[in-house]
Amino acid sequence: MITAKFGGTAITPANLHFVKDILTPFHNRVVVSAVGKEYAQDVKTTDLLYRYYVTGDEGVWRAIADKYARLAAVNCIPINAEETLDEAHSRARSRDTSYCMSLGEELSAKFVAKYLNATYVEADEIVRFNGSKLSFNATVSLMKRAFKGVELAVTGGYYGMGKYGRQTFSRGGSDVTGALCAVASGSSLYENWTDAYGVQTANPALIAGVRTIPTMSYDEMYRLSVGGAEVLHPDAVSPVERSGIPIRIGNFFNPDGASTLISNCPSRNELLSVTEKLADGKFVTTVLHAMPLSKITQIFSRFFCDNRFRFDCFGKSFSADRVEVYSFEADGSRALLVTDASVIRSLYGYFVS
Ligand code: ASP
Repeated sequence: MITAKFGGTAITPANLHFVKDILTPFHNRVVVSAVGKEYAQDVKTTDLLYRYYVTGDEGVWRAIADKYARLAAVNCIPINAEETLDEAHSRARSRDTSYCMSLGEELSAKFVAKYLNATYVEADEIVRFNGSKLSFNATVSLMKRAFKGVELAVTGGYYGMGKYGRQTFSRGGSDVTGALCAVASGSSLYENWTDAYGVQTANPALIAGVRTIPTMSYDEMYRLSVGGAEVLHPDAVSPVERSGIPIRIGNFFNPDGASTLISNCPSRNELLSVTEKLADGKFVTTVLHAMPLSKITQIFSRFFCDNRFRFDCFGKSFSADRVEVYSFEADGSRALLVTDASVIRSLYGYFVS
C-alpha cells in the first residue's frame, strides 16, 4: 500500500485533477497541504492565513475563501463550500497563529476527501506533540487506530494536537505528516508529489541544465534538506528510514517523468549539492561528496584558481571577495561554501555535468 502526499501546488483549482489521476487502488493514505500558489506572484494560503490572523483584514479572508470556493467549483466537489468556509472563518482568529495557519490543511483535507469520495481523518486526532516535539509513539498508535478498516483516508498535513491545543510543525511540515502516515500504515512506499522533478543537481531557478538525481540515501537526503533543499522537510526522513520505507519524490504534472527514490542505497553521483540563498544576497552551497579528499581538493583548487582567489590553506576558513570557504569537513564528506551570486554558475560548472 502507498501513502501519497501532495504539495500545495497540486491542491489548486486547475491542478487538483492530477491528484485523482495519480491515485490507484494501491493508494490508501493521502496527505495534503494547504492550497498553494496558482501563479508565480500568488501568495500561499498559509501565508494569507498568517496575514489574516495578524491584521484581521477581511479582504484577506475573502482571498482565502475564494481559493477554496474555486477549488470546489472547478472540480465539482460535492461539498457545501460556503458553509464549510464560514465555519472555518468563525474559528480562524479564535486562538493563536498556529491554529489559524493550520486551517489551510484542514480545509484542503475536507475538500479533497469529498473530491475522492474518501474518509476524512482529522489531524488533531492522530498527530500528537509533546511540548514542541512530535510524540512519535503516541502519533503512530493513534494513526493505526484511526486508519483501521479505512480504505482511503485523507488527512491534512502540518498540524496536530499539543497539550494546550493545536500545534504545527515548522513550514513544509506536511511532509512529516505524510511520513508518519506511511509508517503507521505499513506502506511499502511514501510518495511525495511536488511540482519539481525530484531532487535535482542544482536549483533550476539558479542554474540551467539541471538533472534529476535518480537515487540517494536517507542520509544524503537529510543532509541536503538541512542544507536548504526545499523539496522535502528534513524531519520527514528519519520516520520512514527507521521503517525502511522508500520515498519517491516526483512531479505530479508528469508522474512518469524523472523522480528521485530515497532508500538505503547511496547516490551514484559523486557530488550532491544544494544552494540556499541567504538574506544578504549571498549563497551557501552544501556539497556532499563520496570521493577521495585529494580529488575534491583538486576540483575546488581549480575553481578557486580560475576565479583568481588565492588558495591558501585547505581546511581553514578564509575570505575573498566573492567566495568564502566556510567549512570543509575533515571527515571528507561535506563542504560548505558561501559565495556571492556572480560565482554560483561557475561553481556549479565544476560539479554539475
Ligand atoms: N502549508 C504549510 C506551508 O506552506 C505546510 C506545508 O505545506 O507542508 O509551509
